[in-house]
Amino acid sequence: MQITLGIINVSEAKKLILESCITAKIENVSLLEATGSVLAEKINSVVNTPPFDQAAMDGYAFDFDSWDRKSVLTVSGEVQAGNFSSATVKSFETVRIFTGAPLPTGTDTVVMQEKIIVVGKTICIQDNLLVKGSNVRREGSQTIKGELVMQKGQLLTPAAISFLASIGVDKLNVYSKPSVSIIVTGDELMPPGRILSNGQIYESNSFGLTAALNQINISPVSIDIVNDEEAEIIKTITSRLSTDILILTGGVSVGNYDLVPSSLKQCGVVQIFHKVKQKPGKPLYFGKINQTLVFALPGNPAAVLTCFYEYVLPAISRFTQKQYFRRLQMPLASDFRKKPGLTFFLKGKTKYHEVIILNNQESYMMNSFAMADCILELEEDKELYKKGDLVNVSMIV
Ligand code: AMP
Ligand code: MG
Repeated sequence: MQITLGIINVSEAKKLILESCITAKIENVSLLEATGSVLAEKINSVVNTPPFDQAAMDGYAFDFDSWDRKSVLTVSGEVQAGNFSSATVKSFETVRIFTGAPLPTGTDTVVMQEKIIVVGKTICIQDNLLVKGSNVRREGSQTIKGELVMQKGQLLTPAAISFLASIGVDKLNVYSKPSVSIIVTGDELMPPGRILSNGQIYESNSFGLTAALNQINISPVSIDIVNDEEAEIIKTITSRLSTDILILTGGVSVGNYDLVPSSLKQCGVVQIFHKVKQKPGKPLYFGKINQTLVFALPGNPAAVLTCFYEYVLPAISRFTQKQYFRRLQMPLASDFRKKPGLTFFLKGKTKYHEVIILNNQESYMMNSFAMADCILELEEDKELYKKGDLVNVSMIV
């Protein structure tokens, strides 16, 4: 494990996080539980689908080659979906059939019910376009027993789940989601819905983080709100070290009440880096103990969410093997001047193939972030950006 002293840049920080991630874990889950996960095995079909020659329309099944294209056919029976007729249909006979029903022996073609005239117990076919095999779904035309039908790494969309059900799969191996715990620190924090006393603010970080995790179908296993007291922080951290990812917020910079790094150290967490050349979120801390990744994010709410999307999310992706949001390059909608020496992560809004940098970028402000659909990354060394310059954009919706 590489341990860095002093401030590092964004790309070094991201690299150190990815290097610290364990190899993805696999779990066997039921089909519906797998929705939205990534498949961790190959799937071979265990059945032919359709499993038998099947009517694709409501109509009449008959043997095409023995028909002379003009004679009426005698209706000798009926077969509906879910039924099976063992009787063989003879020449110049036909069977009333419904969509999804198996074709009886002796038939290979279905004429739609809209294209016939019933005359007593016979039908007269009026369909010039009818050919042998019309309106029949052939056995195995979708999958053949034994055939490879899905590769490892496939995202399990609702359509993929439906397809897997249709070939009889009920359990499958997927990459597991990590377990995540949240600890927010700060004496000043009051839950929303209560009356604020002097000096208090509403606690919002646990909400932002939980919502961001929910957005990617993860529920935190625990949320603790603790005071700026070392003993309490240490006790809480210790109780949460069995999770894959522990996220703390607040208390991570250099004030007298910033007790998180020292508490983590006392819990045995090995610091991998502390402080990144970025704005917001400069005091970001990352460490590891056994298999647990520990992210301690500076308390300002915009820094918390920015660091979540930029650093925690890629670590989660390593577990789930899933790419969550699109990253792309887009032209800036207007000029922008920044301080060189820091990477800037800015709240942005995409519009007509351009990206707008929103107002109110300070790390305590969430009003602009609330309207954003992306985070822009402006390079550490650059100072002046011109309208039309291409910038890296990470979508967050
Ligand atoms: P800290 O990192 O503890 O110095 O906090 C930085 C700023 O973020 C302070 O203004 C805190 O009051 C604020 N802050 C810390 N934690 C939270 C939280 N959970 N919800 C809202 N604001 C917070
Ligand atoms: Mg604090």
